Amino acid sequence: MTDTLVNSTLSAISQERRIVTAIPGPKSIALHQRRLAVVPVGVSSALPVYIERAHGAIIVDVDGNQFIDLGAGIGVTTIGHTDEAVIAAATNQLEKVTHTLFTITPYESYVRVAELLAEHTPGDFAKKTVLVNSGAEAVENAVKIARKHTGRYGIAVLEHAYHGRTNLTMAMNFKAAPYSTGFGPFAGDVYRAPNSYPFHDGLSGADAAERTIAYLEKTVGASDLACLVVEPIQGEGGFVVPAEGYLPALQAWCTANGIVFIADEIQSGMARTGKYFASEHFGLVPDLVLSAKGIAGGLPLAGVTGRAEIMDSAQPGGLGGTFGGNPVSAAAAVAVFEQIESHNLLAEAMRIESVLTPALLELQARYPIIGDVRGIGAMIAIEFADPATHKPNPAAVSAIAAFAAQHGVIVLTAGTYGNVIRFLPSLAISNELLEEALGVIREALASL
Ligand SMILES: *Cc1c(COP(=O)(O)O)cnc(C)c1O
Repeated sequence: MTDTLVNSTLSAISQERRIVTAIPGPKSIALHQRRLAVVPVGVSSALPVYIERAHGAIIVDVDGNQFIDLGAGIGVTTIGHTDEAVIAAATNQLEKVTHTLFTITPYESYVRVAELLAEHTPGDFAKKTVLVNSGAEAVENAVKIARKHTGRYGIAVLEHAYHGRTNLTMAMNFKAAPYSTGFGPFAGDVYRAPNSYPFHDGLSGADAAERTIAYLEKTVGASDLACLVVEPIQGEGGFVVPAEGYLPALQAWCTANGIVFIADEIQSGMARTGKYFASEHFGLVPDLVLSAKGIAGGLPLAGVTGRAEIMDSAQPGGLGGTFGGNPVSAAAAVAVFEQIESHNLLAEAMRIESVLTPALLELQARYPIIGDVRGIGAMIAIEFADPATHKPNPAAVSAIAAFAAQHGVIVLTAGTYGNVIRFLPSLAISNELLEEALGVIREALASL
């Protein structure tokens, strides 16, 4: 009964772009008026079209407009909106039990997610996982665990990093506005080092690593650092791919100095880059790996996975939380792992790169305001900058995103200076939809 209902709703969403009203349409405008009265302005929306349904790579608004979704809710619906297996697993779990609290009376799906993360994160050693509700909460827990394990306090992060909106993670972000402006005082003992950003610094991986390490040695000293937190490919920072050898050099330095090396794979993980975790592209074996966004097909779930001896340094009762590892989210996550395997989604991410990257390089050749094309798998970005000075060009990015939305394509922006367009579609998107979306980007560039 449930299955039939679900399937009939899903099959009603054709995988095509269709704009039938002005954007936003009249129903969205009416909803937006209601929202303005009751939702604070601090919670902003990039595009105030109100979504009713979604499937695969298409989202449908309340006015019946269908958008090609190149953002997947910031890389959350990585295996596709309303994936049938995720819906079935979550629905089945909803009918059985929705909450007991794992720290009171546990259940199997939490354990299964921990097993799957142990299996699919890099490294061939005993691993353990704590499940929480959000990416920021995973970062917070990783820092807690690293501090307990090392007995040290210092947290090292990189320039252009983004780690969340809680008090500690606000202190770890590079960009103040809008994330932390006016929200201080912030957590202390966070040390921000220069990163590797080949388009801007032109440094080799070895030279960039030497700069990062020298900076941290000078400003805090290795013996006071509990952890170094890196995004293997920076997300909000603009899909910054570090120079070859940079991250392995940082990891080697951490290992030599007893610093816990933490990979924040909240955006880059869960098959997004054609590997389960982007760390694999760089030969990294992090001590702790953080997952969130794409792990449960749109349901809230996050995890810290790492070396058993580090994870076990927190005392019983020191980790957890009311909703952490919720049974419905955990069941959905198990289905996500199964879908990645059974539909060979790692290869789908590489298919997406093989369509996006050549097309974007071609655009770069035609439009010199595209300074850089970078990324791996279904995590690709273009950075807009002055060709001579590399001065950021956020105006072009805003204009393209607005043009795309008007023409039925959702594209997300990124970058410390708002001058990056990032492509992170679901792995379910067809080549035809990708080509069509690229056609809209091409028109947008031509219209500038
Ligand atoms: C989104 C994100 C976070 C924060 O996750 P939330 O679930 O929004 O708290 C942390 N790190 C990275 C790399 C992210 O992309």
